[in-house]
Amino acid sequence: MQGPRTYAGVNAVVGGYLRDLAFAQSSQPKMFGYKRAAAAILSLDSPLTDLLGPDGALPRIRGIGPGSTRVIREILETGASPTVEQAVEHSDRRADIERRRTLRRHFLSRAEVRRVLADPGFEGPTVEQYAGDLQMHSEWSDGSPTVEEIAEACVARGYQYAAVTDHSYGLRIAGGMSMAEAAAQRLAIDGVNARYGGRFRMLQGVEANIDAAGQLDLTDDEAATFEVVLAAPHSRLRKTDDQTERMLSALRHPAVRILAHPRGRISGSRAGVIANWEAVFEAAAQRGVAIEIDGDPARQDLDFALARQALACECVFALDSDAHTTGQLSYAETAVAHARLAAIPADRIVNCWPLERLLAWLADPSSESRR
Ligand SMILES: [Zn+2]
Repeated sequence: MQGPRTYAGVNAVVGGYLRDLAFAQSSQPKMFGYKRAAAAILSLDSPLTDLLGPDGALPRIRGIGPGSTRVIREILETGASPTVEQAVEHSDRRADIERRRTLRRHFLSRAEVRRVLADPGFEGPTVEQYAGDLQMHSEWSDGSPTVEEIAEACVARGYQYAAVTDHSYGLRIAGGMSMAEAAAQRLAIDGVNARYGGRFRMLQGVEANIDAAGQLDLTDDEAATFEVVLAAPHSRLRKTDDQTERMLSALRHPAVRILAHPRGRISGSRAGVIANWEAVFEAAAQRGVAIEIDGDPARQDLDFALARQALACECVFALDSDAHTTGQLSYAETAVAHARLAAIPADRIVNCWPLERLLAWLADPSSESRR
């Protein structure tokens, strides 16, 4: 596996160096320019090595200027970038850049995701087995699409179902829904389901916030009005103390079905929650709560390495996009790629189940708990 992996991984290496170079800049416009360049490389469908012309020329790539092209050339020729190393060396942010480098482990570029999806050598789910996405945001919180637009996009992707999971009222920063707004959203979702009949089922979910003590920002009665409750941490994500107890309390909440982006890590920025993950996974497996692989490229949380540990604890998994636009629904593919790298059987993935099994699990998660 090592050879081809390193090959498709060239975009992640280039993206990392361009991010380093961004943070070494003292001018804001230059910093944003290199950040944009890094994002452009990380979202390419093909590895840079495949894009070279017969004469070794690099094609024009949107968002890539001469400075970034020079870095890319160096990396393709030598595997490293002396230009970036020198810029980092001479910048006063060297310590910060070195810290950021340690926070990019196990992130896949889009090209790597596509390679893993296309390689039949991996076990685990295929894109064809993926029946529906269980985390996404609409105009009712911090997403942009209407629920109608989401339904249309999900049907176009061949999904049988999807859960719209806007933030609950405790997370004001993300435009969390009041319970009155949730009731109005329910009517809009009922309208979608009436229109699609049996062809597509939209579930009303919610992404509840796990507070510092492990409590949710919804009462039991409020949580029970949603068809899917995700619980996710959005605070204390840069702390170095152990937060196992916080995560275990969240899992004990009777309404929780999915532990979403369990760490809350962000690529090159923060490690997220520190916890005894084996204890968290054991508790989740016993209750039948699904552990999420969040496919947002900046999150990739869990990644394949931690997902293997969750699989060893016999957890069930949810693979979700965490999309905030309909275009971002493709982020689910990043989650599927991590599940393939972790060799998670499709039978352990709630998104690969037919609707009836999904609904039975939502009604009673112990039906899928470790026995
Ligand atoms: Zn979230």
